[in-house]
Order: sequence, then C-alpha cells, then structure tokens
Amino acid sequence: MDNDEFRDWSRRAADWGVDYRAGLRDRPVRPAIAPGEIFRSIETSPPEMPEPMEKIFADFEAKIVPGMTHWQHPRFFAYFPANAAPVSVVAEYLVSAMAAQCMLWQTSPAATELEMRIVDWMRQALGLPEGFSGVIQDSASSATLAAVLTMRERALDWQGNKKGLAGQAKLRVYSSDQVHTSIDRAIWVAGIGEENLVRIPVAGRFRAMDTAALEAAIVADRNAGLLPAGIIACVGGTSIGGTDDVAAVAAVARRQGLYLHVDAAWAGSAMICPEYRHFWTGVEGADSIVFNPHKWLGAQFDCSIQFVRQPEDLVRTLAIKPEFLKTRGHDGIINYSEWSVPLGRRFRALKLWFLLRAHGLESLRNMIRNHVAWSEGLAARLAKEADFELVSEPMLSLFSFRHRATPGADLDEHNLRLVDAINADGRIYLTQTRVDGRVAIRFQTGQFESTAADVDAAFNVICECARSLAS
Ligand code: PLP
Repeated sequence: MDNDEFRDWSRRAADWGVDYRAGLRDRPVRPAIAPGEIFRSIETSPPEMPEPMEKIFADFEAKIVPGMTHWQHPRFFAYFPANAAPVSVVAEYLVSAMAAQCMLWQTSPAATELEMRIVDWMRQALGLPEGFSGVIQDSASSATLAAVLTMRERALDWQGNKKGLAGQAKLRVYSSDQVHTSIDRAIWVAGIGEENLVRIPVAGRFRAMDTAALEAAIVADRNAGLLPAGIIACVGGTSIGGTDDVAAVAAVARRQGLYLHVDAAWAGSAMICPEYRHFWTGVEGADSIVFNPHKWLGAQFDCSIQFVRQPEDLVRTLAIKPEFLKTRGHDGIINYSEWSVPLGRRFRALKLWFLLRAHGLESLRNMIRNHVAWSEGLAARLAKEADFELVSEPMLSLFSFRHRATPGADLDEHNLRLVDAINADGRIYLTQTRVDGRVAIRFQTGQFESTAADVDAAFNVICECARSLAS
C-alpha cells in the first residue's frame, strides 16, 4: 500500500466508522448467527498473491460486520459496558498510525510522560489523595494479577519469584464471593491455589464482607501456621454490584499488616461524581486500586488504571532488566513495562487525554448520573409490574430482576428462556447471573450514546418478550 492508497483507505475507514456509529440503532445488538458460520465463510488458506483492497473491504462489510455484537450500540445493556467515546476512537486512529511500542521510557518518551500525567489526572478526578501513583494496564485482570503477585512477594519477603512456592508456608488471600473471576485466576496464576482464596461470608444489601469474620479468619490462619498475604475488596461486583465496606476492610488490613487490593473495575468511573464516593469510603487505605476507564468512562478498550501506594513494591515484584532493556543514562526514570506482566505495551494514555479534554469531567459526570437515574427509573417501573420482581436493587446503574413463571414452571428455566427471547429479538441485549443460586436477569446502562428513550425501549422489549413467553 503506497501513501496515496494509505490516505484513501484511512479516509474510507474513518467514514465507515462514522456511518457505522450513526446507524447502530438500525442493527440488532447481537447478531443472529450460529457458531461456525463466519469461520466457514473465510477462505481456508492464506492468499499467495496480493488481493485488491476493494475486495478485502467488501468482505469485511459482508462477512465480518454482520457477525459482530455491537458493543457501542445505545441499547447494549449486557455485561458491563466497554464504551468508546468517538474522540477516544480518533485518538486510537493516531495511536495505530504511530504504532509505537511503549515498554520503556526511551521507546516512547511522550507515551510514558503522558501516562504519568494522565494517571495523576485520573487520581484527582476520582478524589484519591496524593501519594497514589499508577500505571495503565491492558485489563483489570492484569492489574489484579500484578497486585496478587505483589502481595505474594511481600508476604514471602521477596523470595517467591526467586525460590518458587515449594517449601513455603501456605499463602492465604481473603475476599467475598462477589469478586470477579479475575481474582480467582490471579490466585491460580500466582501459584497460591484456589483452596487458599478464603471466601468471607457477606451480609447486607451490598453483600459486604463481614469484617469480624474476615479478621477472625486471618488470625485463625496465622495461628494454624498459614501465611496471610492480602485481602481483595470489591466495589461494584460484576454479578449484582456487590460492594465491601472498604474502610472497615482497610482497618483489618492495617491491623493485620496485610496488602489490600480494591477492584472497582466498573464502579470506579462513577467516582468522578463526588456523591457516589461513599461507595468506597476508606479507599485511601488500599495498597492498590484498579478501575477501567474502558468500561464506563468512554476510553476505548483497552484501558485499565492500577493505582498503587508503593510503586517500588510493584516494580520489585515485576521488573527484570536484561542488558537489551537497560536505558543507559536514564536511571530512576519510569519504564512502565516494569509495572506490568507483559513487556510490550500500547500507548493507552492518548485516548484518555483526548477524552478528558474534549468532554471535560463535568459532562462525563452528567453521563454517569443519567445512566444511574435511567436504570433506577427502569428498576422502579419493573418493580411495579405484577409479573416482575427486583432481585437486587440498583447499585449505581446495575440492577437485576426476574419474571415470575406460571405456577409449576421452573423459575430458572423460564428466566433463561426470557433472556434468550429478549436477545433473539435484537432490539436490546441483556445477560443473566445467579443470585443465591437462582437465575436473575442483569440490567446496566452505560453506553456513551444511550438516551432515556433507549432505556424506555428496553422496558417495552422486556415486557413484550415476557408476555409472549407466557402466552
Ligand atoms: N472486575 C470486575 C468487577 C469486572 O466486572 C470485570 C469485568 O467485567 C473485571 C474485573 C475484569 O475486567 P477485565 O476485562 O478488564 O480484565
């Protein structure tokens, strides 16, 4: 591709992107395709000779786009959002064009220094005190893994990486059962072992860990010769928004000398609004916090910020410096690959810089406040319908509900059929969860371009689909 063609196709791609976003409401949120259809439509072997871009682009439109689930669709209410403000898409075009690998300061000085600044902007935006620095990771899963490795190393007096875990006292990590499975995976990958992730009983509307039980479990483990390493608290768990009392958990961590990691991957974005910060009161007592601007703030996927109290502990855990990665003459400079598991890293700060400048915090706050208000409104409307019950009250913009089955019918089966019917309809997209072992349907509002009318449309679709299942 020469420069003229590069210009031409870049323009066409940008035009296509604008038309795509503008026309999203006309598409079903989730494609109606069967597994294997797309795979079979792709040639079985790579081409030996160049193909014209016209044909490649035509195949993209014909074969790929109809097989996509549209995460930017204004009526995507499933999972958590991965919303991408148009301005962050523009920043990503530029990042793609430069295609820099930002592992060390000297491999992209501007990427490193902008990241330092933007992480601090976000610290201020979330109301976190000075003293936290941070890094932009690809995902909350990576950030949590980095945190678990750090708590492991601290507990093992920095001998785990060197000697392995054989012959060491058994490490123990504590959380509720409301945390995301990325915590389980971090525990597996860190070699701590699933049986050493101790689940603390929960109580209350937000299913917060019982902190007396937490402290008792830590003390009992220590007395039994086990090695408590850390606690993972959640603010806005994935299933129903489970939220720990972070201040009380932090007090236990402090008394017991344990590392505290807070997973606020989704709910963290809402902390730009001072009125929601009560959900994580005490968070300044954490050793690390993860939140994903790629979920609810509009920074295109992927973009996960890990704030850390003592970056030197993270670096001590993860840094490795062969000769070919040494940055001669720049001792003491930040090389962000030493703060994360992967060596190579994308330039992720640019999209946040563009986003925060083009929108300003106040308009992002308004977006989040609207999402919360619309979800609360929908929850209240559903609760008034005789055939529906709320399973969990809104936590920010997430709640769950259930349709009452006709007597004798299996309630779980009925609600799973309802989710399938809603998603087959295509106008909205929802996902299910289990609450106390029973199926519930989740609803969250978080799309950058959602409106109150989209949420109203969701009410109609849910009721219509439930009625047609019942008839
Ligand atoms: N933590 C919570 C509360 C989540 O909801 C999710 C994903 O939805 C994660 C962590 C994992 O996020 P990521 O996909 O960035 O690894």
